[in-house]
Amino acid sequence: MNTPIYLDYMSTTPMDKRVVNEVVKYMDVDGCFGNPSSSTHRFGIQASAAVEKARKNVAKLINAEPFEVFFTSGATESDNLAIRGAALFHQRRGKHLITSEIEHKAVLDVFRQLEREGFEVTYLKPDENGLVSASSLSEAIRDDTILVSLMYVNNEIGTIQDVEGYAAITSASGVLLHVDASQAAGKLPIDLKKIPIDLLSLTAHKIYGPKGVGALYIKQKPKVRIQPVIFGGGQEQGVRPGTLPTHQIVGFGEACKLALNEMGEEQDRLVKLRNKLWLQLKNIEGIRLNGDLENRIGNNLNVCFEGLNGESLIFALKDIAVSSGSACTSSTVEPSYVLRAMGVPDLLADTAIRISIGRFTTEEEVDYCAQYIQNTVKWLQEIGLPKG
Ligand SMILES: *Cc1c(COP(=O)(O)O)cnc(C)c1O
Repeated sequence: MNTPIYLDYMSTTPMDKRVVNEVVKYMDVDGCFGNPSSSTHRFGIQASAAVEKARKNVAKLINAEPFEVFFTSGATESDNLAIRGAALFHQRRGKHLITSEIEHKAVLDVFRQLEREGFEVTYLKPDENGLVSASSLSEAIRDDTILVSLMYVNNEIGTIQDVEGYAAITSASGVLLHVDASQAAGKLPIDLKKIPIDLLSLTAHKIYGPKGVGALYIKQKPKVRIQPVIFGGGQEQGVRPGTLPTHQIVGFGEACKLALNEMGEEQDRLVKLRNKLWLQLKNIEGIRLNGDLENRIGNNLNVCFEGLNGESLIFALKDIAVSSGSACTSSTVEPSYVLRAMGVPDLLADTAIRISIGRFTTEEEVDYCAQYIQNTVKWLQEIGLPKG
């Protein structure tokens, strides 16, 4: 194989061609390009109908009502709107907030900002398998706690968190619960009629939809109140104003519909592929699996290699598009804060790679990748570069 293999589906996914086919119907002069807010003419009314159809499909994926779905530009915006919006609206009841050390930056950086604005934040620690326990949440809740934000599936190590456990605690204590479900939606069944979650973030580009569109679920019965973060033309009930991008939203809706219909079969296939990959990798000398193997989303592996040099490993693996565990913040390379929180030493964390497969991954690709990683690691071990 001489074309690079894409194994980075947790970073983003290609759009499904069936999604693209729908998206292009809502763009040009021959399509349905009207402003969905223009209710005085057919162009607008048709666009509005397309948006509402998409809203139903998004709602169905999480078993919510369409009027509980508010379109945004993606999960980063949904997280900002949920956390900041809820904190600002409810701050008279208290200024204590709870999240965890392994959240996505789109969550952590909002909390950092709220700290600068006078809120107090407790960061829950994961165990060595990357799981944040419901009991640690229970212990952290105080009389002045107003909001908890914890993710459904971790984007680096793929761990499935105890969201049902969290929701039982927050609903019993009268504290709002926000869940970032970017990596869970379309992969795990999510039933918001069963789990009492108040706010839930979604994004289209992790489920074969377009980039730049997502949604925030806001429970309406009983109504969860949040303050808008931006102000403008009153769209989305004023919670998130701005002209609705019809084509993006249609793509998101179509992606949700496909995900719901194909989730069971797709996950079965991906788990089999992932397990096949792990079976071939697990005997490599010095390999360590990061994150719980049981409570783990079907498409993810995250591994470290004891004794290897992180930079050389990533460089040597250039024919397969995997994600390096470390984050490049401007000029410096930092080990993953998620692995750090789990107690993985920095030198080892530097060698972390995330392998995430998806809808278009084939068995041949998985076998090639397993062989390629085996050979590369063996070669690096033989030439024996110094660590660090
Ligand atoms: C990708 C991702 C985000 C950011 O989503 P965007 O739509 O790219 O803004 C937030 N949280 C998690 C867990 C993610 O995986």
